[in-house]
Amino acid sequence: MKHVIFLTAALLCGNLFFTQPKTADITAETYVYICTGPNSKCYHRTADCKGLKKCSKEVKKVTLTYAKGKQRTPCRFCYGHK
Ligand SMILES: [Zn+2]
Repeated sequence: MKHVIFLTAALLCGNLFFTQPKTADITAETYVYICTGPNSKCYHRTADCKGLKKCSKEVKKVTLTYAKGKQRTPCRFCYGHK
């Protein structure tokens, strides 16, 4: 996925792109959604994901860093194959 974006950007920007360090989304804070229920182990890209529908507690918006710090894994609906 990251490589696809990289290649697209490289095509658009030409050689100029290669003088820039990495991609901007690494430093930008990403927000994800987690269910605060005891059985939840994932984080979600969108608040209306079907994986969150069965959440027994609150859906909370947190940073991706926070979610990873809580040992959360990417939701397979949000981040998996379409
Ligand atoms: Zn999800």
